[in-house]
Amino acid sequence: MAKEDPLKKYKEKRDFKKTPEPTSSEKVSFDNPRFVVQKHDASRLHYDFRLEVNGVLKSWAIPKGPSLDPGQKRLAVPTEDHPIDYIDFEGIIPKGNYGAGTVIVWDTGTYRNLKKNISMDHTVEDGHIDIWLDGEKLKGGYALIQTGKGNRKFWLLFKKKDDKANSESDILIDRPESVLSGRIIDEIINNKKS
Ligand code: MN
Repeated sequence: MAKEDPLKKYKEKRDFKKTPEPTSSEKVSFDNPRFVVQKHDASRLHYDFRLEVNGVLKSWAIPKGPSLDPGQKRLAVPTEDHPIDYIDFEGIIPKGNYGAGTVIVWDTGTYRNLKKNISMDHTVEDGHIDIWLDGEKLKGGYALIQTGKGNRKFWLLFKKKDDKANSESDILIDRPESVLSGRIIDEIINNKKS
């Protein structure tokens, strides 16, 4: 029996003749799995947090973005699995398309599953993700936890207490730029070559 395409939802939402977003998963990692945080200036500005798990990018939209402060628990809304090649996607999704707006790679790097004896895909299924991030901006322990009951379930992303935590400054304001191109959202909009 043919396995259902894990990217079915992703593809259904998009017309690839009209959006420059990637469709393939050729850029799989061969050693440590990676994560990406994309700043997405869509109808509402948000940050997309994605983890490479079993050949797809598991994805959550974080309206307020990630924080280095363990006291800040940020709502994370699960979104459809994205293809691996989305990991370095930066550019403009044209008006009229799903998610129309500008995307930059706000942070990326590798991650480690801190749950001993539980595979990453099971931690996603269980809603109990415990990871160590080695990004340029986000570092150290993070938890992404599903909480609540019944139809009131929701996810929270938060920094764990360790020496990478910082409650003093706001990384979203201090470091607004792409880690790939050094550009901020406005520079992408004003210079459409990417
Ligand atoms: Mn988004």
